[in-house]
Amino acid sequence: MASACSIKVRGVVQGVGFRPFVFRLARANALAGWVLNGEQGVEIFLEGADQGLKAFVQALKTEPPPAAQIADIEIHTSNPVGCNEFTIRESRRNEQLSVRISPDLPVCEDCLRELFDPADKRYFYSYINCTNCGPRYTVILGLPYDRSNTTMESWPLDEYCSGEYNNPFNRRFHAQPVACPQCGPGYYLQAGDKMVRGNEPSIRSAVAMLQAGKILAVKGLGGYHLACDARNADAVQALRNRKYRKEKPFALMAKNLEVAGGLFQISAETKAVLTSAARPIVIAPARIALAAVAPDNHELGVMLPYTPLHHLLFAAGAPEALVMTSANRSSEPIAFDDIEALDRLSDIADAFLIGERPIARRVDDSIVRAGVFGPTVLRRARGYSPGAVAVFPSKRPILAVGADLKNSITLVVDGQAFVSQHIGDLEHFQSLQAFQQTIEDLVSMYEVRSDELLVVHDCHPEYASVAHAAALSCSEKGSVQHHRAHIASVLAERGEWKKRVVGVSFDGAGYGDDGTIWGGEFFVGSISEGFERVAHLRRALLAGGDAAAHHPVQAAAGFLAQLDGLPDMTSAPFNFPERYQHAMELVCKRVRTFTTTSMGRLFDAVAALLGFTRETSFEGQAAMWLEQLARSAPRMEPYPFPFADGELDFRPLMTNLAWDRFLGRAASECARAFQRGISRGVSDAVTTLCREHKTDTIVLSGGVFQNELLLEDLKSMLDSTPFQVWTNRAVPANDGGISLGQAALASFGRFDFVAPANSKEKAFL
Ligand code: ZN
Ligand code: FE
Repeated sequence: MASACSIKVRGVVQGVGFRPFVFRLARANALAGWVLNGEQGVEIFLEGADQGLKAFVQALKTEPPPAAQIADIEIHTSNPVGCNEFTIRESRRNEQLSVRISPDLPVCEDCLRELFDPADKRYFYSYINCTNCGPRYTVILGLPYDRSNTTMESWPLDEYCSGEYNNPFNRRFHAQPVACPQCGPGYYLQAGDKMVRGNEPSIRSAVAMLQAGKILAVKGLGGYHLACDARNADAVQALRNRKYRKEKPFALMAKNLEVAGGLFQISAETKAVLTSAARPIVIAPARIALAAVAPDNHELGVMLPYTPLHHLLFAAGAPEALVMTSANRSSEPIAFDDIEALDRLSDIADAFLIGERPIARRVDDSIVRAGVFGPTVLRRARGYSPGAVAVFPSKRPILAVGADLKNSITLVVDGQAFVSQHIGDLEHFQSLQAFQQTIEDLVSMYEVRSDELLVVHDCHPEYASVAHAAALSCSEKGSVQHHRAHIASVLAERGEWKKRVVGVSFDGAGYGDDGTIWGGEFFVGSISEGFERVAHLRRALLAGGDAAAHHPVQAAAGFLAQLDGLPDMTSAPFNFPERYQHAMELVCKRVRTFTTTSMGRLFDAVAALLGFTRETSFEGQAAMWLEQLARSAPRMEPYPFPFADGELDFRPLMTNLAWDRFLGRAASECARAFQRGISRGVSDAVTTLCREHKTDTIVLSGGVFQNELLLEDLKSMLDSTPFQVWTNRAVPANDGGISLGQAALASFGRFDFVAPANSKEKAFL
């Protein structure tokens, strides 16, 4: 006797070969019925023998296609309707769209085999792909995911490709971006007036230029890269000069795992991330010094090839380690449009390797570290976006617009929290445009209605994101304080809506409840009940405007002004430049100063005391420099950093450090003792607060917690306590995670209303 059941599968199940997999599985188990792509995932109806149904469900759970990510499976028994075959039906559209769009996937083993098989139709074809691999988010123009809604719409399939596309038993059945050299787009090389056409000739010419030390703009999945030979110091330096990028490390692409292993130390965890489907840039300790690639840095960021083009470049003889950095100037967003790229990069790149397939939206490479608390995403973009990172308990649509630095946005639809790709710093016009486009893009893709939408933003009155949110039409708006959003981001990732924790939120700057600049904050509470600020770093004055964040000596003035009897900072070993004295005058007169509890600025101040007295050229540079310096010394007795009455007092710590340094103690030893002091102070504070407020969990977030040495020390100190520590994993601890935290607090109505800044203490970024 026949039985029947209907099954709903949610998650990343469209555009990843799921329907043909279901089709083959049903046929193999002699089942009739149908499968279709619905708004929320894949819907299946089956009828046949009980044994076949059981085997089907078992295989559905255990052997899904490699690119699928099943979130949940719902099975209901049903009445047989007398189907006599199994079919793939047309997509259905009538409810709220919440199907998850697949992130872009690296080229698969099967496609690679064909790519290098001279007998294959797609031999040496840069755009080879199948249902298990290739572009997704970077080619999708709209939902549902069909070829007509992708950037491949203008290339009609030829007979060969459509034969595969329409065959349920073929690996390319409904592979939307499928193409071959006869019917699809190709690559060409443009060097000045010279043009090289054809896949193979253009790639071989590009390789010859790379070998000769030239700089190439190479079109990839989510934008252009600037590429050159990583071992050619002159080429790398030329790239730095032309890109106006003085010191920020460049990412590398290694030919394969073996080459990567020669560049940096690959632990088992690093290897797992490096070879994962997201193929991110992974940060790990360097094995060789590549001074021009990563100045003053003992770490390297390396990724493996992920598009067919990358594999072709290496196979054709490109240098085994390439610099592969986002094509832009300084910190502008990555270029992804051909005309824009040719225009913006013409005096950076010697030639352009251009692919004809348009990119639907810019998506940078992701950055991940296999950290002491497990793998953690430092920049969330290609390979992860726009995946859902959490399932919210409420169904209301929410748009959270994030912070102004390292911006990302979060859209919650039908409870699923989609975090956008990394957008960048909104002070740049290009990034602001990208920010607005991403909002429009996601809101229209999921057809979110503005009359139901809740919009949430930061409390900073001068954020561009806040101004933009003010202009959006929606049913309700609210603001969430920056540092509370950091803590909520960790809990939201874990789906911990009610868990009460002690949260430590350390970063450079965020607008506080009282209109001052926060950045060294302790909270108690949960997402559902909100977070109360219970402690903070001792307040200091910060002289001047935005410049204080770029000049460690300027930040140092406000902290040092509170110490008694200091050595002279303008002579050896400190040699502070004039800017310091000027800042000190402002601090003493309280003119153009701001009150801050910023832990980021404390790190800057200490970096200045230990020798970083110049201007920084990228955010977090002085703190990174300090961490590297500390790592070069053995474990030290920590400097005192006492916690009492809800305040961590930096004075004993800085006094000791300044005198030690003056008396000739090595800067590296001072740095190590400082780092240990911070960890000791924080672990004393959180254990006190956990006991006082009867919680057993500590949450760490904010950009300062990208300091791996700080995390290592904290872990070893807290391992002996009964308290557990949670950190960010799926979204960055820096401001890239803010939008998720904003959305989480907003979904429980936990908004913050802040005092406007008074004229003397106007906050700044
Ligand atoms: Zn493939
Ligand atoms: Fe922050």
